[in-house]
Amino acid sequence: MIPALMPTYDRYNLTIVKGKGCSVFDSEGKQYLDFGAGIAVNSLGHCHPRLVSALKKQASNLWHCSNLYNIPKQNELAKRLVKNTFADTVFFNNSGAEAIETGIKIIRKYQHDNGNPSKFRIITFKGSFHGRTLATIAASRQKKHIDGFGPIVSGFDQVILNDIKKVESAIKPTTAGVLIEPIQGEGGILCAQNGYLQELRRLCDKYDLLLMLDEVQTGNGRTGKLYAYEWAKLKPDIVATAKGLGGGFPIGACLANEKAGKTLTSGSHGTTFGGNPMAMAVANAVLDVILEKGFLNSVRDRSSLLMKHLTEIAKCHPTVIDEVRGRGLMIGLHCAFDNGNKLLVDRFLKKGLMAVPAGDNVVRLLPPLIVTPTEINEATSIINDTVGEVA
Ligand SMILES: *Cc1c(COP(=O)(O)O)cnc(C)c1O
Repeated sequence: MIPALMPTYDRYNLTIVKGKGCSVFDSEGKQYLDFGAGIAVNSLGHCHPRLVSALKKQASNLWHCSNLYNIPKQNELAKRLVKNTFADTVFFNNSGAEAIETGIKIIRKYQHDNGNPSKFRIITFKGSFHGRTLATIAASRQKKHIDGFGPIVSGFDQVILNDIKKVESAIKPTTAGVLIEPIQGEGGILCAQNGYLQELRRLCDKYDLLLMLDEVQTGNGRTGKLYAYEWAKLKPDIVATAKGLGGGFPIGACLANEKAGKTLTSGSHGTTFGGNPMAMAVANAVLDVILEKGFLNSVRDRSSLLMKHLTEIAKCHPTVIDEVRGRGLMIGLHCAFDNGNKLLVDRFLKKGLMAVPAGDNVVRLLPPLIVTPTEINEATSIINDTVGEVA
């Protein structure tokens, strides 16, 4: 008999009933250090007092209001994102995939409005992940995500990462833009090199293509900058973000510069729930904390400490972990033996540490940005013990 809940996830036999800071508790009362953060969503940990208070306050005033009317907190959040990024304008969604879809539509509309309606193709990258809608699975082109869901949305050309010549030779008269994750998350914490991203910017300028970054996972402080493109010192045309922006409340956002963003006008795009007052209240509170002076500095300090411990562990046990990679608090441990990532994640969990498997045989560590040195030491001691046993 078919289960009432569609079995689209291979779930761990574990029920989390409460969270506080960087810890969660299961139905038996067992405590776990949460170094997965709901896949980079709980950016400020669980039940951060300032987020709880923002949500409660909003919940007793207004839950939903149609985008037919003014929603002051949308203007406030948009203005703050504009002030602190490359962007001139913002559209709010409910999820990462929706924010990516918005950006894909902007790329097509930009070329259309500029007299190039035949330009609609977007260059994407092997190993990428952009979501589960029809267009985003076509963009990522992962076999297990597209099999059986054809006909596949057309207009995406895929190349391998970090080889700029492959991009230039993939540009056709019909190419409209480039869509890339600054660090591939699901793909296994694979960084696009800074120089490579700068070359992409140069190519986009040369061929009048829009450069769109998928910062759904890398954004909102995760890499130690508000957005990861800042590390490459460039200005993208479009950034889609989500996950950490709501700290656990569903939200997505598509940020754009003026030339890209002005293509979406009244009636050309819309959403019922996107930008709803509850999401806006929480995301503004998330930004209150992340933009506080010194916060991102402390993320970078915590990152150095965690990286230092992990690098030592890898050096002692190269038969288990042969590479530590990533940036900020988006870290990948590459396993030296087949399916090592799943085995390690299982063993960590038994010892009270949550981590997330990723592609390319990688274990992802994505702790809340408020993780303390004590919690980092606890986590790395579990990792050290486990890796030692496995070796
Ligand atoms: C999670 C993720 C998405 C999809 O976000 P959803 O909210 O699940 O739709 C897209 N891109 C990247 C890089 C992601 O990590």
